Amino acid sequence: MDLNQLSGIVDLNETNMTVTLKAATTWSDLEEYLNARGFACKSMPSSAPAATVGGWLCMMGYGLGSLKYGDLLSQVRTVEVVLPDGKAATISPVSDPPLKSFVASEGTLGIITEVKLEIRRLSAMKHFIFRVPDMHQAVLLMNDLAGGKISPYNMHFSDHHHVRMMNDLGFSHADSGSSCLVAVDFEGPDAELAEAEAQIGCLLETHKSATLLPEAIAELEWTERFRALRLKRGGPSMLGGEILLPVHSLVAYLEDINKTAARQGVVFMSYGHVVTSERATVMTAFFADESKTLQYILSLALVKKIQDAGYRYGGCPYGVGLWNTPYIRRIYSSSELKALRKRKSELDPKGIMNPGKVYRAPFLLNPLFFHVGMAVLALMRGVFRNGR
Ligand SMILES: Cc1cc2nc3c(=O)[nH]c(=O)nc-3n(C[C@H](O)[C@H](O)[C@H](O)COP(=O)(O)OP(=O)(O)OC[C@H]3O[C@@H](n4cnc5c(N)ncnc54)[C@H](O)[C@@H]3O)c2cc1C
Repeated sequence: MDLNQLSGIVDLNETNMTVTLKAATTWSDLEEYLNARGFACKSMPSSAPAATVGGWLCMMGYGLGSLKYGDLLSQVRTVEVVLPDGKAATISPVSDPPLKSFVASEGTLGIITEVKLEIRRLSAMKHFIFRVPDMHQAVLLMNDLAGGKISPYNMHFSDHHHVRMMNDLGFSHADSGSSCLVAVDFEGPDAELAEAEAQIGCLLETHKSATLLPEAIAELEWTERFRALRLKRGGPSMLGGEILLPVHSLVAYLEDINKTAARQGVVFMSYGHVVTSERATVMTAFFADESKTLQYILSLALVKKIQDAGYRYGGCPYGVGLWNTPYIRRIYSSSELKALRKRKSELDPKGIMNPGKVYRAPFLLNPLFFHVGMAVLALMRGVFRNGR
């Protein structure tokens, strides 16, 4: 179903600090509209130029701004939904079904047509980028930044493989060799920004191995925040997995997958956002070539290795869709899954909304077949690579 025509602003309520909009409005269009009137979105995905408000709500809803303002669910007041039986309903946190059942529902419960969303006042920003020798130092620094008096708006990290590749491709403004980077952004009134700057000064005293890159570079990197996938230019194609991971497991996870990468003769590049005080979304990607069909299919085994490592360290796939259905029990507990399936069968008894997504793996992605199949692919990949 193409929802592109369903875009535009319905109402801006400056007193209540809310905006009501049609669900297929993109985050960039909404931000442009709000900025022109002195307001801004509280958060948005780093795919904002293309991602729609309804689309992000139907996914997990963590991105830029989540660290300060929480997930998207906490910012939505109500939505209008066309339910699978064709009836329209206003859904709120206290309605039946409640708003939270539509979050991460991936279009399986109804079509969201309108969203009423909290907004913030547009304010100045300050951007900083730290260069640190390794991810262990990066995590220590990020913990201190997240626990500081002034909460960062956004916090991003890149491991040294990602930093090096962005340098090699000519996309990085920071020539950081084999270091890791931590970028942190603050927004708020001038007094808050001054306090954030003082906080950064103190952190430089305690984190002796960290150095601050010039402010102009931090500002340039912020302007590139929607272009993470420029990395694909190193391709021709790129594969990877995105994981919601506890921040305290980040170092162990990266050590684990980098050992796998060395054994498999690939380079895994990892970057991500700290989206809550405890969790980060981590993207681990590697280059592949989809024009070489056999090699490309064999490389899918590495995607599973990334997901398996994430799971070993307390993480789960970020989003389900179709391809992550074999991991559904890593995302939801048995009781959560039971409740989700019950809701689905009540609202959509004929299963017409995005069949195959979310609730259970289709036959060919049955977890048993999938795990065995991927193990065989991994084995074949090793044989194929050694043969070459
Ligand atoms: C460069 C890049 C950066 C990204 N950054 C982030 C990020 O920071 N955070 C993040 O969470 N994701 C991110 N993503 C993933 C993705 O872009 C987001 O999840 C995005 O919000 C999806 O929105 P969309 O409008 O493109 O939805 P789609 O991808 O078109 O749809 C997503 C799902 O929601 C359903 N859906 C869409 N609109 C509606 C509606 N109105 N009613 C009911 N169901 C609907 C669809 O059927 C589908 O199942 C990124 C992707 C890229 C390529």
